[in-house]
Amino acid sequence: MPRSPMIVRTVPALRRAVDGLRAKKATIALVPTMGALHDGHVSLVRLAKRRAKRVIVPTQFAPTEDFGSYPRTWKADIAKLAAEDVDLIWNPDVKTMYPDGFATRILTEGPATAGLEDRFRPHFFGGVATVVGKLFTQVRPDFAIFGEKDFQQLRVVTRMAGDLDLAVKVIGSKTIRERDGLAMSSRNVYLLPEQRRVAPELYRAMKESAQALRAGEDFKTAMAGGAALVTGAGFALDYFEVRHAETLAPIASLKDGPMRILVAARLGTTRLIDNIAV
Ligand code: AMP
Repeated sequence: MPRSPMIVRTVPALRRAVDGLRAKKATIALVPTMGALHDGHVSLVRLAKRRAKRVIVPTQFAPTEDFGSYPRTWKADIAKLAAEDVDLIWNPDVKTMYPDGFATRILTEGPATAGLEDRFRPHFFGGVATVVGKLFTQVRPDFAIFGEKDFQQLRVVTRMAGDLDLAVKVIGSKTIRERDGLAMSSRNVYLLPEQRRVAPELYRAMKESAQALRAGEDFKTAMAGGAALVTGAGFALDYFEVRHAETLAPIASLKDGPMRILVAARLGTTRLIDNIAV
């Protein structure tokens, strides 16, 4: 039976717990999530356990525009984290993270203004960088694990940690998919049965475009083909793009470096994002 993780709700209690782990020379990995945990999150925790002696999971880390409407599954989340032998759950309330008068934010540029998610959620990466910056200084982890599923976020956080000389190694973890290719996401529960049926088309379209790019097809044609598959399946498309995998800058040739295809599209009111390497 794994032990129940320690649940910590105040900054002083977190400091004491982290100091205790550090005194024992334990390495620490941080796995930020928003709760409503699925197998994708569990895979991050497992990677964290392979990298570090102790694993800390902050829950509901980003009070984004989603925060109010996110599915709340606290009990089930704790049980999953206990089953993975997580050591500590950092569960501050909103006032602890954002005390009255909170007035400081991290300003993000570079990958955060690449013209992908930022076009549709203009304040999102500033919020992510600020809260993740806080988590990094609160916990001072050796490693932080983020999913490739949110690829732009992974790039923003990696850049922020490097730029601010935070002594944490940010590690990307591969996307966990359902059997039919749909990337796992807390939002998938909102898909109606018919929408759930067509949702894997997103992954299929990216794979088609990736194959066309690798086969040497003209970039515009290859990407237009994938985008047409997405809209043809009934999605409202936000973007379907190929970018440089590190900088997220636009890319026009196979010679320009490692590539990533990124997509965001809506089925009804549910917005899905995904990406793959080319
Ligand atoms: P969320 O709670 O959905 O904001 O995600 C918390 C962390 O889990 C982020 O680093 C995500 O990129 C990661 N994540 C979400 N879905 C998946 C997935 N299907 N596979 C791997 N990681 C994921």
